[in-house]
Amino acid sequence: MNPAADATAELAVSRVLVIEDETDIRRFVRVALESEGHDVTEAATLQRGLIEAGSRRPDLVVLDLGLPDGDGADFIREFRSWSTAPVLVLSARAGEADKIRALDAGADDYLVKPFGSGELLARTRAHLRRRLHHANSEEAHFSFGDIRIDRARRRVLRGDTTLHLTPIEYRLLLLLTASPDRVLTHHFLLRELWGPNHAGDAHYVRVHMGNLRKKIETDASRPRWLLTESGVGYRFSGTSG
Ligand code: CA
Repeated sequence: MNPAADATAELAVSRVLVIEDETDIRRFVRVALESEGHDVTEAATLQRGLIEAGSRRPDLVVLDLGLPDGDGADFIREFRSWSTAPVLVLSARAGEADKIRALDAGADDYLVKPFGSGELLARTRAHLRRRLHHANSEEAHFSFGDIRIDRARRRVLRGDTTLHLTPIEYRLLLLLTASPDRVLTHHFLLRELWGPNHAGDAHYVRVHMGNLRKKIETDASRPRWLLTESGVGYRFSGTSG
């Protein structure tokens, strides 16, 4: 990402749809997002959320999973049939299964309640920036830190040195870097890497991720780029670089 494009991202006004039935949280999210200049629409039910999404065409959706008239994951499936805009879900601490279901339905990221406005804004900035630069996955080269991925030659380099990745490690790295800051679930990665028959065993991903980190990270025990989302999956950090 070049500095000029980043400046554009900071200036851009985005349309954000907040779907949350708890009035206090909805207001809190609205005030925080408006402080960054975003154009915010609120909805308190799933049905209202679908109507507002259809008419407002949001750049980002902040979505509560427990809505009075349905499950947030149903909203995501419907929304994903016509929009690629990032969806940030708000989940209760106890809602681990709901969170994973939402990510598998096409959500990008989650925040566990209670969360602060700083965390909310950092995540929304990251996802809006990614939306602006979503061409990453189509570019021949992608760099982070001192690592460079050359897609045309299927090579990964640290400086001038070629890193020897296995085919699985290479595909795992491509999947993660194609969507910076997006949480990819174990289920999603298993399906993408090995097909639907392996969709049960997160251990496979863990082993290959461990090996990939040893090659990519300066300190594999304290990864900077390939981050663990505990109990959920992995995320490529596009913001700490
Ligand atoms: Ca709720």
